[in-house]
Amino acid sequence: MKYISTRGLAPAKPFSEILLGGLAPDGGLYLPEEYPQVSRIELDEWRILSYADLAFEVMSKFAPDIPSADLKVITDKTYTAEVYGNARTDSDPRQIAPLRTLEPGLHILELSNGPTLAFKDMAMQLLGNLFEYALDKQQDSLNILGATSGDTGSAAEYAMRGKQGIRVFMLSPHGKMSAFQTAQMYSLQDPNIFNIAVRGVFDDAQDLVKAVSNDLEFKAKYKIGTVNSINWGRISAQVVYYFSGYFAATNSNDEQAAFSVPSGNFGNICAGHIARMMGLPIAQLILATNENDVLDEFFRTGVYRPRGTAQTFHTSSPSMDISKASNFERFIFDLVGRDSAKLRGFWGQVDAGGAFDIKGTPYWDALPGFGFVSGKSTHADRVSTIRQTWEKYGLMVDTHTADGIKVGIEQCRPGLPLVCLETALPAKFEETIREALGREPERPASMKGIENLPQHCEVMNADVNALKAFIAANAPR
Ligand SMILES: *Cc1c(COP(=O)(O)O)cnc(C)c1O
Repeated sequence: MKYISTRGLAPAKPFSEILLGGLAPDGGLYLPEEYPQVSRIELDEWRILSYADLAFEVMSKFAPDIPSADLKVITDKTYTAEVYGNARTDSDPRQIAPLRTLEPGLHILELSNGPTLAFKDMAMQLLGNLFEYALDKQQDSLNILGATSGDTGSAAEYAMRGKQGIRVFMLSPHGKMSAFQTAQMYSLQDPNIFNIAVRGVFDDAQDLVKAVSNDLEFKAKYKIGTVNSINWGRISAQVVYYFSGYFAATNSNDEQAAFSVPSGNFGNICAGHIARMMGLPIAQLILATNENDVLDEFFRTGVYRPRGTAQTFHTSSPSMDISKASNFERFIFDLVGRDSAKLRGFWGQVDAGGAFDIKGTPYWDALPGFGFVSGKSTHADRVSTIRQTWEKYGLMVDTHTADGIKVGIEQCRPGLPLVCLETALPAKFEETIREALGREPERPASMKGIENLPQHCEVMNADVNALKAFIAANAPR
């Protein structure tokens, strides 16, 4: 199986050749040229598998060019109780992504039991092992450069720490992350992890990354790569938990289910779309946004109108504060029947700072066939959902998960089992928990007192030459 670009102007490539890259050379995003299908017989066989075995089966469909025995070693060593079993005391560490039933038909899929307490660990840990494997095969090395406002950077660092052939240079806005997030990243002592605190805001850090990436000579010389949310390896690894969540929430493969997904860059829910295209019986993909409602607006009105960063609100579910959803192009490619010329037309308008509107086109009529519905949640909704979930079920949820629960309950068709994806643990967002419940969220034992550990980071002005000099000094080729 090969991967093609949404923009249609790049050569098709196998999984192992797109794994380490980001965008396709034509500026598009990679997708399988056809979605692998899962037969009814396979679904019946997969229902009883462990998470690691299920991950092996799903990834085998996406990465047929990795020898099976090698892939099995990688999935087995990724999805273990050591990696995913230390965040909670009240769920089974061997299950990796346990389903918690709040009441009949209403479930939470626990995806935040990994090392950084957010769902991004589910895919990023696999990516770390896949990268190490691929680089070892090619006798090569990679310097990962990224910018983070919190969750992505820590998930990447915890996935790449100690990995052969990989260095991570992670930029974050100086003094702008929570004490917990800062401690999570800056307390890492691994020699292959470099934290860089940029004097400025997140966008300044992001601009520096873009400036370095646009210097093709520097990029090639220092083997610069990324692990941002458009990476296909991350999306494919996220497909796995839609299967595991479906199996846990239903009794047979004759049933349908609904998934509610707190969304920002459309990576998580894109994996749900792909699981559905592979044949998983998902009746509804419920997309939840916070006050930054670009995606909700699209599914309600047919207009996709990314905002400028100046019109992006800072909310209490900060990992969903996006102005433009970087994976959305993948879904629109399918919606327009994989017509790359059409897609290029739409993204020409978006990239020029505009919008596109599918109302009145055949694509608007096709949209309901993809199972999406959407809704939005505000700070007041979030606080009241956290409170209700706590009072009614004794479960403390984080702000993002609360957005998903609120919209999920509103939008789910009666009679369908609803699986709400948990995207982080409340310990990461203490302030809003305090506001909602007047008490502190519990912290996993491994994270107690993390703010008191010694921290190290390089503080730097938002200066591209200083950044390049730092990379050059620390990344011998
Ligand atoms: C990244 C993140 C999201 C958004 O996921 P996307 O894949 O960008 O849609 C939601 N919640 C949390 C806690 C996150 O870290």
